[in-house]
Formats: sequence, C-alpha cells, structure tokens
Amino acid sequence: MSCVTCDELLKDYKFWVSRFKDAVLNIPGALGDDARVFAEQAERCRLKCNDAGCALMAHWRHQHRNLVDGALASSA
Ligand SMILES: [Zn+2]
Repeated sequence: MSCVTCDELLKDYKFWVSRFKDAVLNIPGALGDDARVFAEQAERCRLKCNDAGCALMAHWRHQHRNLVDGALASSA
C-alpha cells in the first residue's frame, strides 16, 4: 500500500515515539530542575504520540476502512 498521508502520519508518530524514549532515558540521570524538565518533555512527547496515533487512526477510518476492519477482525 502506498499512501502519502499514511507515510507522513506514520513518520510523525515514529518521530514523537523516539523523542519520548529519549526524554524518558534522560530522566534517571538528571537531578533537580533537569529531572523536572525531562519529565515535562517526556509528558509533552507522550501527548504528541497520542495525537499522532489518533490522527493516523482517524485517517485510516476515513480512507482505509478495510484496514481498520481487518485489524478489528484479526484482534477479535
Ligand atoms: Zn493513508
């Protein structure tokens, strides 16, 4: 399947997932204010991941109905 919108949304999602992981990895080694900053960063990235994931699912529901039905069918 080649869909430019899927590629874009998936790229966005993966970007925020990796930013989230980086931020989380920084937390244990950080002290005081740094730890707080990294924790806030991780939380922001987590929300961005969530948004990106929702955007991808919304796009699938509209443009790739068969994918969503297939995913639901195979998980049932
Ligand atoms: Zn698509």
